[in-house]
Amino acid sequence: MTLASTTTSTRIASRRDGPAAAVDVLIVGAGPTGLTLAVALAGSGLRTVVIDRQTEGANTSRAAVVHARTLEVLEPLGVTASLTARGLKAKRFALRDGDRVLMPIAFDTLPTRYPYTLMLSQAETEAVLLQKLHALGGEVLRPRSLAHLTQYDTCVTATLDDGSRLQARYVVGADGMHSKVRELAGIAFDGGTYGESFMLADVRLSGGGVPSDEVALYVSPAGMAVLAPLPGGLHRVVAVVDDAPEQPSAGYVESLLRARGPQADPARVEQVVWGTRFRVHHRIARSYRRGNVLLAGDAAHVHSPAGGQGMNVGILDAVTLAEALKRAMAGDTDALDAYGAQRRPIAQQVVALADRLTRVATVPPGWRLLRNLVVTALSKLPRVRRQLAWRLSGLVYR
Ligand SMILES: Cc1cc2nc3c(=O)[nH]c(=O)nc-3n(C[C@H](O)[C@H](O)[C@H](O)COP(=O)(O)OP(=O)(O)OC[C@H]3O[C@@H](n4cnc5c(N)ncnc54)[C@H](O)[C@@H]3O)c2cc1C
Repeated sequence: MTLASTTTSTRIASRRDGPAAAVDVLIVGAGPTGLTLAVALAGSGLRTVVIDRQTEGANTSRAAVVHARTLEVLEPLGVTASLTARGLKAKRFALRDGDRVLMPIAFDTLPTRYPYTLMLSQAETEAVLLQKLHALGGEVLRPRSLAHLTQYDTCVTATLDDGSRLQARYVVGADGMHSKVRELAGIAFDGGTYGESFMLADVRLSGGGVPSDEVALYVSPAGMAVLAPLPGGLHRVVAVVDDAPEQPSAGYVESLLRARGPQADPARVEQVVWGTRFRVHHRIARSYRRGNVLLAGDAAHVHSPAGGQGMNVGILDAVTLAEALKRAMAGDTDALDAYGAQRRPIAQQVVALADRLTRVATVPPGWRLLRNLVVTALSKLPRVRRQLAWRLSGLVYR
């Protein structure tokens, strides 16, 4: 079985075949985090292998928001221009109660080459990253699923579900929320789960009250709803509900938007292109490293999609980790602990911000008037609006 890496070709030896081949970095998971790491390591001289348990293109749309800081850090990797060419540029984020804007957050005054939030489906973002990886001579081995890890002082042996083994100097768990790498490394994932479920739908809408260049977070007695434009004339709707249907119908999404979204000129749902439901967790790995095993992306942190941060934080983890791995391979092993020391507090801040936004959006009906008064008063303070813009765009983490 031939196993290609970003810099070399090698083999996974089955148990029967004898000793396993050695590589520098095994990346488990080819979502946005793993792909970014692979692209950032390509050309560095490190022998890197990427595996994913899914066949190509099986990941769903999920993240639709790419923030300014993410576009900045992807620029040296040669990915940003392709992303911006495909995406839709939303210049504002607004907290709304029906048609009333409680807090407008402007991105177009931010000091960056990317003064907007780029709306693009995660599938497209992954396709652009994968294309870049291929252009650099790398590839993802699919479907290959990690089953077991054995740690030694100077390396890790990874066993895949087909029984084949690969010996790597370092293994990176970029394998998402239910990370097998995290589990096998015995790293706790502290936090909890929100009680409500979330409905997500990519829809084709009509109705004049629908903002076309704004990501809107609607707060209402019925619960929160996010309404954001996507390329191709679509909109993303995310709503917190008691019990979301497995496949939301057009009528279901429309009734949610009528209760929570634009009021004077309500949205009509012409078509549901894709829909799903999910539960939201807020958890952080107790450590980003155990021995020669490291975590990045959703494997290390998960939180509410309010603020659209998850994929963005994972991509930034990956870029930082790539530099740490290069330094570690050059003999600076402190670099790996420095990676966790730098990125974990940022994940804590992001989880806290997403939690605050979720709680503000889901206050019980009796608190709604007070909530609106407080948010409106805060929105009058330019400093508050500026801080939120810096946090949401990720520029605060420069
Ligand atoms: C409904 C929804 C909406 C969201 N909206 C946003 C948003 O607007 N903005 C935002 O920034 N974030 C959003 N997120 C979060 C975002 O999708 C995640 O943060 C992002 O996908 C994390 O990327 P990742 O690469 O770390 O993990 P993942 O995307 O989960 O990728 C992990 C990969 O690892 C593979 N894998 C898993 N186990 C194994 C194994 N044992 N062996 C081999 N491979 C394995 C999987 O097949 C997968 O390809 C949303 C999430 C959801 C669920």
